[in-house]
Amino acid sequence: MAQNIGLNVQAPKEECKDVNCPFHGTLPVRGQVITGKVVSDKMMGTVVVARDYLHYVRKYNRYEKRISKIHAHNPPCIQAKVGDLVKIAECRPLSKSTTYVVVEVEQP
Ligand SMILES: [Zn+2]
Repeated sequence: MAQNIGLNVQAPKEECKDVNCPFHGTLPVRGQVITGKVVSDKMMGTVVVARDYLHYVRKYNRYEKRISKIHAHNPPCIQAKVGDLVKIAECRPLSKSTTYVVVEVEQP
């Protein structure tokens, strides 16, 4: 049974034994929830999520496109792949660069 993580997301259908899974382990999520696209799944249990945003440049009265990359833990019950649109939630630091966890793969 997946536990309620306090966010309005679809709980994964599969089970897992990962302690760092917000649904089946003991990892609390709090703070920001971000939607982004998975650009790399080469790490074990971690994906890289890219987020596009517009930054205003006053000198030219225009916006420039910027991309930020966020490392997010990918629990075995979710298994996000490259190209997936995912929702990631902020959690405690899981490693030097990972402070987010994938909570949902958005269906197109
Ligand atoms: Zn799980």
